[in-house]
Amino acid sequence: MDSLSTISSVIAALCFIVALAGLAKQDTAQRGNFFGAVGMMIAVAAALVLSLKNSAHSILMTLVLIAPAMGGGAVIGVWRARRVAMTGMPELIAILHSFVGLAAVLIGYNSFVESLGHEPDHYGFHLGEIHLGIFIGAVTFTGSIVAWLKLSGKISGAPLTLPGRNLINLLILIVCAGLLVAFISSASWWALIIMTVLALILGVHLVAAIGGGDMPVVVSMLNSYSGWAAAAAGFMLGNPLLIITGALVGSSGAYLSAIMCQAMNRSFLSVVLGGFGSDTSSSSSTLADPHAQHSEISAAETAELLHDARRVVIAPGYGMAVAQAQYPVAELTRKLRDLGVDVVFAIHPVAGRLPGHMNVLLAEAKVPYDIVLEMDEINDDFPDVDVVLVIGANDTVNPIAEEPGSPIAGMPVLKVWEAHRVIVLKRSMGAGYAGVANPLFSKDNTDMLLGDAKGSVEALCQDLSVSSQLKEKM
Ligand code: NDP
Repeated sequence: MDSLSTISSVIAALCFIVALAGLAKQDTAQRGNFFGAVGMMIAVAAALVLSLKNSAHSILMTLVLIAPAMGGGAVIGVWRARRVAMTGMPELIAILHSFVGLAAVLIGYNSFVESLGHEPDHYGFHLGEIHLGIFIGAVTFTGSIVAWLKLSGKISGAPLTLPGRNLINLLILIVCAGLLVAFISSASWWALIIMTVLALILGVHLVAAIGGGDMPVVVSMLNSYSGWAAAAAGFMLGNPLLIITGALVGSSGAYLSAIMCQAMNRSFLSVVLGGFGSDTSSSSSTLADPHAQHSEISAAETAELLHDARRVVIAPGYGMAVAQAQYPVAELTRKLRDLGVDVVFAIHPVAGRLPGHMNVLLAEAKVPYDIVLEMDEINDDFPDVDVVLVIGANDTVNPIAEEPGSPIAGMPVLKVWEAHRVIVLKRSMGAGYAGVANPLFSKDNTDMLLGDAKGSVEALCQDLSVSSQLKEKM
């Protein structure tokens, strides 16, 4: 049974590595997902075998104990996955991270209770594992709950900037390090409980201090923390597969955080220290002209422009996801390409509410991968573009990011305003996620096509067909 569980652990670990490699590219992502699911099935089976072997109860009794938890989890998981809208994914991911954190805390306490009375070999090391596992788990648990509250709009996304906030974090870390020493030397409950409370507070404070614009990094950072929490749980349970899986999630989440920081031109440390976006001296209202005029355009006029264009770029954002406009957008793309128009998509790394959010939506609507370009691949080409369609994007196309002192200063954005014409599809003149007014809307070469993105794109598709028929007759 031992070798069976070792072999299955190795196969599952390999599946996870292949899954991560596959998920790195759109055209292999589905295969990656498949390997991930297979790996997880093997891992669950291996864990089951291991628990049957190690259980103090009979095999039947162990199965009876495990089945309701697994069955209940599976039913809730399938139910949530079927119901969740793409726009709700970040919140769901945040709350799922909190479960991993909570699991690490519970496993830590359970390991400690089990070890009382019959101290295993290397007891000090085991106590260290328990302490660190609970610490990481507790920070992940409350941090993820705050992220969930922020992402779902249940609390304000503004950063909480307590005076001396970095000192508070540092003090908590130092006290927890002291408690680690005390716990290893005395195995005392009080050291463990005080550390847990402090770690729970640290999780709340760390994420509460991070403002709206930095939330993409928070999501990937908590992803990473949840991986390390799982790895810590693996150490406590003596489960190598959990250690490997946790380390894979932890390191890939850390790498993703680094990519997201790069995308926003921010250092990881400055994100973690928080407070970004709280600078009231340069609020959006002082930077944006409150009397700025915008001009509006109809769907028919936009269709004419698109019909006559040589090169069109579509810059999608969160609004496309909310409106579920990806299918009509794919339809519009097909129609334009049939007319011989060169159409590409410009994807900002933090567009939407999830890393890769736009890529997923466009892939779902069967937009060819080779016309979906990353920001760096397209950003210098805008002067040569006839029309840019900004579909539900706002912060990611905001030129104010280029103004020093603005709330999103330094964040690289899609320079859509350098194109000949820009048409922005959104419902109102309101701000985006970062709450910053967007001067793009009042630029001379920008027109607003106001309305729900799905309805507007469907109207564009219809008007494009009408305008092609008219031109054919002429
Ligand atoms: P934004 O959130 O800046 O703006 C989206 C725009 O879509 C809004 O201004 C809104 O305007 C419009 N919109 C909403 N619903 C509709 C609809 N039904 N039809 C048409 N338009 C609609 O989007 P971006 O994608 O440009 O930027 C993403 C932002 O989210 C960044 O600030 C990023 O930092 C943040 N973020 C990103 C995460 C990630 O991992 N990618 C995670 C967390 C945050 P209106 O209401 O007027 O229609």
